[in-house]
This record gives sequence, C-alpha cells and structure tokens, in this order.
Amino acid sequence: MSYSQLDRPVQFLKGVGPKRADAFGRLGVRTARDLLYHVPRRYDDASTVTPIGTLEVGMDATALGRVRSKGVVPTRKGLRIFQAVVEDETGMITAAWPGQPWLDRKLREGDRILLTGPVRFFHGRQIQPREMTIVSRGFDPEEPQGVIWVTYPATEELPQWVLRQVFERNLDALLGWADDDEYLSQEAMARHRLPPLRRALTWIHRPEEIRQAEAGRRRLAFDELFFLQLVQARARRAATELEPGIGHARTNELIRPLHEALPFRLTEAQARVLREIYADMQSSRRMSRLLQGDVGSGKTVVALFAMLLALEGGHQAALMAPTEILAEQHARGMTALLAPLGIGVALLTGSLSAPERRDTLVALADGTARLVVGTHALIQEGVTFRSLGVVVVDEQHRFGVRQRMALLEREDVRPDVLVMSATPIPRSLAMALYGDVDLSVLDEVPPGRKPVETTVRARDERADVYDFVEREIAAGRQAYVVYPLVAESEKVDLLAATDEFERLRSDVFAGRRVGLLHGQLATAERDRVMRAFLAGEIDVLVATTVIEVGIDVPNATVMVVEHAERFGLSQLHQLRGRVGRGEGASHCVLIAEPGQGASERLEVFRRTNDGFEIARADLRIRGQGDLFGSQQHGRDPVLRFADLMTDEDLLAEAQLEARALIAADPELEAPPHARVRDQLDGRYRERLEMYGVG
Ligand code: ADP
Ligand code: MG
Repeated sequence: MSYSQLDRPVQFLKGVGPKRADAFGRLGVRTARDLLYHVPRRYDDASTVTPIGTLEVGMDATALGRVRSKGVVPTRKGLRIFQAVVEDETGMITAAWPGQPWLDRKLREGDRILLTGPVRFFHGRQIQPREMTIVSRGFDPEEPQGVIWVTYPATEELPQWVLRQVFERNLDALLGWADDDEYLSQEAMARHRLPPLRRALTWIHRPEEIRQAEAGRRRLAFDELFFLQLVQARARRAATELEPGIGHARTNELIRPLHEALPFRLTEAQARVLREIYADMQSSRRMSRLLQGDVGSGKTVVALFAMLLALEGGHQAALMAPTEILAEQHARGMTALLAPLGIGVALLTGSLSAPERRDTLVALADGTARLVVGTHALIQEGVTFRSLGVVVVDEQHRFGVRQRMALLEREDVRPDVLVMSATPIPRSLAMALYGDVDLSVLDEVPPGRKPVETTVRARDERADVYDFVEREIAAGRQAYVVYPLVAESEKVDLLAATDEFERLRSDVFAGRRVGLLHGQLATAERDRVMRAFLAGEIDVLVATTVIEVGIDVPNATVMVVEHAERFGLSQLHQLRGRVGRGEGASHCVLIAEPGQGASERLEVFRRTNDGFEIARADLRIRGQGDLFGSQQHGRDPVLRFADLMTDEDLLAEAQLEARALIAADPELEAPPHARVRDQLDGRYRERLEMYGVG
C-alpha cells in the first residue's frame, strides 16, 4: 500500500500538540486524512446573515459580530442571565442567554460569534440565541472573509474557533495531499458528473456558494456508496460466478398449464419479475436474487413458476419457510394449484413421524419427490437431493438473508437461490443492504384488493373498540389483539399482555373463545394455539408480536394494536397485513396515547396501505443509522455523507461502476486500479468490515 502524507498522525499538523491530538482522537480524528474529512455540519450564507443594524423585533435571524462587552446579570427572581453586546459595522445588539451564566467563562471580549435566534423587545432590541458559534478568537489577519460561514462538528475541548484555527493553518497542505486519495479516472468523473476529490474537498471546506458545498458532498457520498458496492460486488461474484450454476432448460410443459390453471392473470409486476428470474435461471451463472413485495403482492405464485422451470429441466425445487405452520400453508396452497398438472408436493418439517421422514428423504434422494416445501429441516444433515435446481427461501425478516444463503453453501449443492421478503424496504436501502444480490421488486398489488380501513383511537375509547370487535365476532369473524414486547422491559410487558388476556377472557369477551400467544410459550403450544385460531376455534387471539408474519387466516377481519406508538411503522404494516386476506371488509385499530410524538407517524400509517410508502416514511423518521447497526456497535457510521433518501441516483451509478470494475478486474490487479485497492484496504476497510462476506 502506498504511503500518503494523509496517513500521518494529526499531531504533526500545525497548531496541534499532544493535548489537542488527544482531543481530536476523541472526535474520531486521528490522522491528517481524518481531519480533511472532518467536514462542516452547517453552512451559513452571507445573504442569510442579517446586518445587526437592521435586526428588528419579531425576526428570527442569524447575525455575525464581535463581543464588545459581556457579563452576568441577576434578575429579581434569582435567575442569572448571561448577556453580551455584539457589534458589526452596522450596529450593536444585546444578546441574552437566561439561565446560562457559565457562558461567561466560555466567551471572551473580542470573540467573533455567529448567532441564530429570535429578536425580542426587552429594554430595547435583544436577541435570544438558540445557537451560538465562536467563529474566531482574538485578532486574526487571515480571518476568513468568505461569504459562506462553515460550522464544524465541535466539542467542549475543541470548540469551533479552535477547529477553524487548525483548518486555517493546515487546509492548504491537506488539500494538496488530497490527490493521493483520487481513485476515479477522468472519464469516470465525467460520466458521473463528479468533481475531482481535491476540488470537492475544497468546495466543502471553503465554498463560495452553498451549491458548491452540496456538489462536494455528492462526490464524497459517491465514494462511500462506491466502496460499499465494491465490497458487495465482490461478494456477489463469489456467490454467483466463481461456482458454476445450472443453466435451466425451459420447455413450458409445466409453466404453460399452470398459467392456464390459475384463476387470475399475473400482474404486470409479476410478469416482469418472472422474466428477470427466468433469465437468471436459464443462464449458467448462479442466481442469487431477492424478491421484494408487499404483503399480498403475489410472491408465492412467482416462486411457484420459478420452481416449475427447474422441474422442466429435470431438476428438483425446494421452498423453505421459517415455521412449520407457514410451510404447511405453502404446501396446501401449492398442492391445490399443482394437482391439475399431476405434480405432488412433499412436506419436510421437524414434526414428521420417523417413517414419514424416512420415506420423504428417500424420495428426495432418488428424485421421485420433485417439489418439496419445508422448514429448516430441509438443510439438515442427512437430507440429500438427486438434483436440486432451485431453492426459494421465504424470508420474513429483513436481516436474515445473508445467513440463510450461507446455510445453503454446501459443496455438493449449487442450486439457484431466490429469497422472498415481505418487508418492503425502499429500493435504495435494499441496494445498500443487499448490493451483493440482485433485486426484483413486486411494486403492484393484484387488482380488486380492499384496503384495510385503519383508525387511531385513544385509550379511553377502548370500550368502543371492544364493542366493535364484539359485533364482528357476532358476525362470525375473528380478531387479533396485539401487545408490544420491548426487550428492556420484557417481563413487565409480558405481564401486561397476560393480565390483559385474563381481563379480556373473563370480563370483556366473557363467553367468547379467547386465546393467548406469546414468545415464552413452548413451540408446540404456540403451534397448537395458532392452529386453533386458523381452524376458527378461537374468536379473539391475544398476542405479542410473535403472531406469524405471513400467516393467512382469511376469516380474521380485525387487528387491534395496543400501545401502537411503541411499534415501528414497518412492524405495524406487517401486523395490519394479517387481516384483509379474505372476502370481508377488514379493520385495523391502533390504540395510542395522543401526544407522544406518535401522532404524525400513525397518521402517515393510517392514510396509506402502501408498504413502500410506509417504509420510506419509517426511514425518514427513524433515520438510516440504525439500519446498518452502526449505532448499536458504536462504530463509525457506514454512510457519513450519503443519504439513502436523496442519493438514490448516485447509489445506482455507484453500483454500476462497482460491478463493471469487478467484472473487468475482480482482484483489482491492473495498475490503473491500484488506487482503488489502496482505498479499499485503507480508508474503507474498517467501516465496511461487516460487509466482508466475499
Ligand atoms: P404474498 O406471498 O406476496 O403475501 P401471495 O402470493 O400469498 O402474496 O398472494 C396473496 C393472494 O393473492 C393469494 O391468494 C394469491 O392466490 C392471490 N394472487 C396472486 N397473484 C394474483 C393476481 N395476479 N391476481 C389476483 N390474485 C392474485
Ligand atoms: Mg442459473
């Protein structure tokens, strides 16, 4: 790896001694490069800075001036107010910070400060800053005269004015070394309309216009996304290209009859996704594809066609579900659809009797069982196929995809892999998280679906909600009542669900059949309760969130969610997806305390049944940080500059660029790619380690 001045410890920079170096370390800035990439968190345009002379009562303004005098003023009520008189060329104003006398120690006369806040009338004009930044301290002949004011992420030990001073003294040198990190060719920069790295960083630290800072940020965002996609493109290559796959032969002898037997036409989205899957399967490259679709978008039918393609070429097909009940549900549905074609469906779960299991294993090994549905039992020791052509994994949880794929990595088995996910996540997010697999999206729901009607009720309106549930039960319907279970207070929550169950059973719905389902029950007991509900032997199912995603009880028409404010929107969407699966009109009732900041979220949820829209709102509200797990692990965020909501186009470009590069030079050995390899091994190694699947 080539050495760069940027690798030197920050302590060698001007104005940084051992003490400041330690303080920088606590900010995550250890090398000169770290400092170069310590970018402003805020920009203030001179046009948004109001000359002090023109500040008026009632304005909310940003002003820039020098501290002329200052002091702490006590009030009659015992409150201590820190006040400073601030001036620029146009005038003077008093700035007041009630209750913050400690500012007196922080601020000095002569400091140049940037203030933002409302202008009030109090013995004359007074500004009450919400935000204050010390821009510079003392007289500095090199004081920046730019029209854009930058504000860096600062700390108590490294205040704004110190950061500025350090940048003033070192930025020219740092920018001079920035070329060492340049890995993009002129053509690539032109293609993606991106500035060279050095210019981007100049724009970020010393913009002449806000637009430049944004253009600079886009370049750094591209770099992040590119290296993320590069790691994933390598993993994808390892999974799909290094090992030969099966080039499935299509005859249509099963696919056509299934089309004719279906009681409906495929949606446009289903047809498109199937074309993508067929193309993958027919090529000799191994398929590694994620099929995303909202609840009810018709993923199972798509999977079934994919499985038939494998059968047509003489191979077997397997579908793996997360639980026995879901496996049985899939097997039932597929058996009905495939009966006219004369194709049977084998079932392999943990609860088969020993003779049943033995028979099934023999049939899989000798190939008489062509299509099998099962649970994890499918990938256990002792299960062998004559020729497994495709595996469909019905994956209900967002983060399980990679682990599941790994389970399939057995030397003898190289089937195509299709993972179905019912969690709609924005395309950009899916690309960032699963850049190593190909993505197909079912973005259309079959026609004629009745949306689930959603209402939000306060807790003191529960009696009405119960009345409503009672009427539905009287009409022969079934209902879910769901309670949250939050990890840190699991015991208390469980108690709440159990107590509520007792209350509902013995009081509210006395005379009705009420069941209880939670994660602490033994698997067999959980299965028993779920089956009873499925069979219509339970009217009201009181449950924690363990009620199975994907379970299909068409007669259930009401979903009541208690403490709805404690659920994520995507989780609520999954719960709501449990109803609306039959003929009857369905309802989702969210019981929430008003005014816990939850109303905006729940309102978004109430208005739409579109899972992708909800997922985008969830991402917007919760932020992207926790999606990568970086917050929990206290590591550098994987994405510091890129924003998955707004940089979707950049992400697509970065993915294309990364995949093309890996296709042309998988090991990055060619001399022009040395820089890329350096960057990958150096600057991005640690941050992207969690993606090192390849
Ligand atoms: P998902 O698995 O995506 O939640 P399913 O595959 O279970 O969705 O489909 C939900 C229901 O919609 C099933 O009853 C299925 O038969 C039906 N369905 C699937 N595709 C279509 C279509 N194109 N038109 C009408 N109904 C469809
Ligand atoms: Mg293939």
